[in-house]
Amino acid sequence: KPRWTRGTPMTLTYAFSPYNMIDRVSVPEIRAVFERAFARWASVIPVSFQETPEYDRADITIGFYLGDHGDGEPFDGVLGVLGHAFSPQNGRFHLDAAETWSVDFEREASRVAVDLESVATHEIGHVLGLGHSSVKEAVMYPSLSPRRKKVDLKIDDVAGVQALYGSNPNFTFSSLLQSQNSLNAAVGLETGFYKW
Ligand code: ZN
Ligand code: ZN
Repeated sequence: KPRWTRGTPMTLTYAFSPYNMIDRVSVPEIRAVFERAFARWASVIPVSFQETPEYDRADITIGFYLGDHGDGEPFDGVLGVLGHAFSPQNGRFHLDAAETWSVDFEREASRVAVDLESVATHEIGHVLGLGHSSVKEAVMYPSLSPRRKKVDLKIDDVAGVQALYGSNPNFTFSSLLQSQNSLNAAVGLETGFYKW
């Protein structure tokens, strides 16, 4: 296994638990969500992510769990804690199976639906070693409302992860700023707060 260190390009593998998935969202949809979420982080640091079928050997292991699942941090049912992930180089990445996970709010009418991609993007930040941000628009802000999508890395997220791993040679801050001018106007609508 590689050491997760700054400045050296590396590939980390990830795998989904064969026994701890959910029925609400199909496996191909879950895989596509995670592929996009990992790609966002990979676009700013010299780290790439590759799915592997070898769960026992993967750097990052992903699964959905209910209640007490053996790591001392039991999940709490609908809303509240949505997921948690352990910092490097543990790689354990757990989502609360009790949530109404959604990949498309037009298909999921529940008022407590939670966007899987938003939570995946946030938890990958923890897997990489980031803590929470006090910047409300940031992906690493510690709460997310139901039926809310927040997947774009903000400057605070990028600066944090680049401090740990260095920058992807293809990344420029000016392109990030351009893409965010329109998005920043749309944030600040949160009503309820939930830990994740
Ligand atoms: Zn856990
Ligand atoms: Zn968090």
